[in-house]
Amino acid sequence: MEDTGYHIETEAIRTQLERSSFQEHSNPVYLTSSFVFDDAEDMRASFAEEKQRNIYSRFTNPNTSEFVEKICKLEGAEAGHAFATGMSAVFSTFAALLDSNDHIVSCRSVFGSTHALFTKFLPKWNIETSYFKVDEYEQVESLIQSNTKVLYVETPTNPAIDILDLEYLGAIARKHNILFIVDNCFATPYLQQPARFGADLVIHSATKLIDGQGRVLGGVTVGKADLIREIYLFSRNTGPALSPFNAWILSKSLETLAVRVEKHCENALGIANFLEGHVKIDWVKYPFLRSHPQYEIAKKQMKLGGNVVAFQVKGGLENGRRFLNAIKLCSLSANLGDTRTIVTHPASTTHSKLSEEDRMQVGIPDGLVRISVGLEHVSDIINDLSKALNEI
Ligand SMILES: *Cc1c(COP(=O)(O)O)cnc(C)c1O
Repeated sequence: MEDTGYHIETEAIRTQLERSSFQEHSNPVYLTSSFVFDDAEDMRASFAEEKQRNIYSRFTNPNTSEFVEKICKLEGAEAGHAFATGMSAVFSTFAALLDSNDHIVSCRSVFGSTHALFTKFLPKWNIETSYFKVDEYEQVESLIQSNTKVLYVETPTNPAIDILDLEYLGAIARKHNILFIVDNCFATPYLQQPARFGADLVIHSATKLIDGQGRVLGGVTVGKADLIREIYLFSRNTGPALSPFNAWILSKSLETLAVRVEKHCENALGIANFLEGHVKIDWVKYPFLRSHPQYEIAKKQMKLGGNVVAFQVKGGLENGRRFLNAIKLCSLSANLGDTRTIVTHPASTTHSKLSEEDRMQVGIPDGLVRISVGLEHVSDIINDLSKALNEI
């Protein structure tokens, strides 16, 4: 990807497809499943990849290419490929790069479906995963085996909002010559660029802050060109392509990523400050609160603290549920990174199938509430939370 020297706010707006003969200012949607060739030779050369051009939208499409190019510029990555969902990006990345009997080392706190992929599906191909907990860095090296191919993390983690040290983990991966893959969904490239800390690949669920308005699903993997080539070939042949319409939405969304994320973070810090010290609350976790156990690491690798706040209401499961039932403005929903503030109670929903002991292992006590702070006026969000807390 050529370096224009522009800031990422500018890249997110000015990275555009070539204009058509209509000279449109804002890019159109290319809803077409295939593309036509000039003649037999053009068709042959295109399939032989002697020229870069669109053939069929399962392979590439102008809208998906524009979206991918923007993410690459924002993440400082060489190349990328877009997918229908964040999970198809995660799955395709592993499926393309791993062979049977390979091994993964991962932080235990990963997105629920990623955890299911590691424990339920990849073992079908004899791909096993060893886990370390967020505060067990010294364990990481001891988990690396001769067949380990990938070190995998998310930071901030979901839903406990712990921070992992990307620089430290990147150095371990380099030392052992294994791939370092980071799910950067909670931070977005505006707050954190894992490639700067040695990540070989960076994955996003574009469904979250990248869309930012709760409309479409999407995913993307960016990083080293040789790895992306394998991932592209896997995707081209197996079909988890991002739809051109969703790519158009996501590319448009990136134009406002910086201003949205700034405001999300400002609101989230306001809410974290309100919750800290509240009588009905045991503790609050937000990366840019001084009380966060990994505050220094967060400051080192993130521009701002992100839009998700975790806290523990006093009184466990029962009060967690009561609190949710008393919420009026904020939404009870499974998504995050929306303009609308979303409140969830992981112990009774996304992580209800885990035993209480397993939940503690992943840092999800029964009273834990996760707020994905939106873009409403911060006072209105605080009033809603305040009233709900008074009712428990
Ligand atoms: C939501 C999410 C995913 C999965 O993304 P989908 O678009 O829902 O498939 C992966 N990782 C993290 C951290 C997420 O929050």
